[in-house]
Amino acid sequence: MTFTEAKARLAVLKKEIDRQRYLYHVEDKPEMSDAALDSLKHELYGLERAFPQLITPDSPTQRVGGKALAKFEKVTHAAPMLSMEDVFAPEEFDEWHARVAKLLGRDRFDMFCMVKVDGLATSINYDDGMLAFAATRGDGKVGENITENVKTIDAVPLALHAPTERQVDAFCAAHRGAIDEKKVRRALSGRAGRIEVRGEVYMTQKAFDALNAEQKRKSEESYANPRNLAAGAVRQLDPKVTASRKLSFFAWDLAADIGQTTHSQEWELLRLLGFNANRESILAKSVAEVRAFWKKTQERRARLGYWIDGSVVRVDDNASYERLGAVGKTPRAMVAWKFPAEEVTTVVEAVEWHVGRTGALTPVAQLRPSWLGGTTVKHATLHNADEINRLGLKIGDTVILYKAGDIIPKVKEVLVKLRPGDAKAVSLPRVCPACGERVARREGEVALVCDNRACPAKQVEFMANFVSKRAFDIDGLGYKVVEQLMDGGLLARPSDLFRLKKEDLIDLERFGEKSAENLVAAIRDRGNVTLPRFIIAMGIMHVGDETALDLARHFGTLEKLRGASKEQLMAVNGIGEVVADSAVEWFADKKHRHMVDDLLEAGVKVQKTERPAAAPWQGLAFVFTGTMESMTRDEAKDKARALGADVSESVSKKTAYVVAGPEAGSKLDKAKKLGVKVLNEAAFLAMLKQQ
Ligand SMILES: [Zn+2]
Repeated sequence: MTFTEAKARLAVLKKEIDRQRYLYHVEDKPEMSDAALDSLKHELYGLERAFPQLITPDSPTQRVGGKALAKFEKVTHAAPMLSMEDVFAPEEFDEWHARVAKLLGRDRFDMFCMVKVDGLATSINYDDGMLAFAATRGDGKVGENITENVKTIDAVPLALHAPTERQVDAFCAAHRGAIDEKKVRRALSGRAGRIEVRGEVYMTQKAFDALNAEQKRKSEESYANPRNLAAGAVRQLDPKVTASRKLSFFAWDLAADIGQTTHSQEWELLRLLGFNANRESILAKSVAEVRAFWKKTQERRARLGYWIDGSVVRVDDNASYERLGAVGKTPRAMVAWKFPAEEVTTVVEAVEWHVGRTGALTPVAQLRPSWLGGTTVKHATLHNADEINRLGLKIGDTVILYKAGDIIPKVKEVLVKLRPGDAKAVSLPRVCPACGERVARREGEVALVCDNRACPAKQVEFMANFVSKRAFDIDGLGYKVVEQLMDGGLLARPSDLFRLKKEDLIDLERFGEKSAENLVAAIRDRGNVTLPRFIIAMGIMHVGDETALDLARHFGTLEKLRGASKEQLMAVNGIGEVVADSAVEWFADKKHRHMVDDLLEAGVKVQKTERPAAAPWQGLAFVFTGTMESMTRDEAKDKARALGADVSESVSKKTAYVVAGPEAGSKLDKAKKLGVKVLNEAAFLAMLKQQ
């Protein structure tokens, strides 16, 4: 390849690589795989090696060119990099708005709303379109020169992007009258002199996770926070270390007058110049819109892929912004509206012990209600007795409560200096709070355990059965969620379910606004339950689906069933002494009676079961296997039962019919072997129709 050919090829390669960078970081629409892009860079690198005189400072190969420094040089900022006033509660934001409105002399003004990315504020300077130098915020007036490190960040253009003529025309047309068009066009054509762009160097969740996975692989300690990591990386003296951290950049300020008059225009201009100006931003016309934005970003927070800790709101009009000026180091026209605190102090009023699935007793702190992470918190798990010792917790103590991620709140620390004179030690229970049996500490285990196999308060199991498809059939309430609710102290007795509110759930892991609402609705929806389902939910030993139905049909109402004697129970068709004893014993238990009353009091309605008027299939045993198309297998069973049929799970000589759908397994084989009549779905439906 000749020098001229190489020069031409290099030019197109650089242009295309930068276009791909732009598509990836600014448009978020990559057109090329990473591998293909690497291949282009590889070619570029090869050409530059052959013709080193063609290397330019804006070449992608120059991102990691710098040598390690002995120390950073100081850079004085053209204009100070100010910090922001923080507000937390909505009322505080309203106060800010009222203050600004008064100073501006008008109630309504446009506000530009951005997400507050948790990173390191950085100034990047371009001279006639080429990256000249970059600096940290430092003390606001003087920062450190981190040019070589910033160049390693792929989201930072080494040369300002040149927008197409059409893009420029569109921008000018959209803002005609509100911009100095001549100036804008001049700047966008790359002849603007010095342009300073300010923004946030940060680390994406993905890069953070990858780095921690690598740490884990090397058996090294994991990093806690991408912000600290990004801040550390950008201040590395060796740019190679910075490059390895895969940092990213969001631009949030165009600190140069290139003909714009508002911050929202700057957002568009930054994108046209090749920067990733965050897409979550909006232009708000009213306080209500800002509030909605703040709320929405808080909900979306976990899904953004980078850490944010609030929103930033500023007066959109630049002239007004300037006029409002600064108080000390903070501009009046801008405010950081932070998300609710992740830590709060509160008082432990009591410690209750809850019995978990395995019988392990978990201490749960009952707290003076406090506002944490956007919800009211009343309980926090203390895990086990050792944790109470580790914390040195006494009842009456003031504690720091925190939420890591969006999980159930935990006690972080006891503020011993605030301990009242009458603080009480937490006593370990000697007996299970649910069944009264003695508890023990198993050899080698931390937890106190109730070993009573019949302990009704191995409640997760109980509750899982209670909400299962066979019983209350509550959609969206699986084992995990039941466990989560019980561990969090939200669910101790089944009646608690019917008292759950959206606000109780919304902040739990796996829950959002919508799913919390759905679950509460699903529970309410199932509060009206059939008697057989209710019986199954009680988890009475030896009482399965069939028995529950027999009992329901015989007694008709819960009241009659509850009061039945052993003799009355044994009179029910198909019920023997074992079941009768078990049922009588169950209903005689005070705790159980209380639980049933409690459910009724919480609004649960148990329907009457009518004795089937006609039972044409009385005495016929059905077995269902395989899938059905027109209904679920459970629905088919219900229909058969409604006609008096017995539904069984296993095929025997007594089976009258096996209803087999596709994917039927061994039951079908057995039916054939025993000569039991097999029906397909259509034949079964036809039989139903005849009744
Ligand atoms: Zn127990």
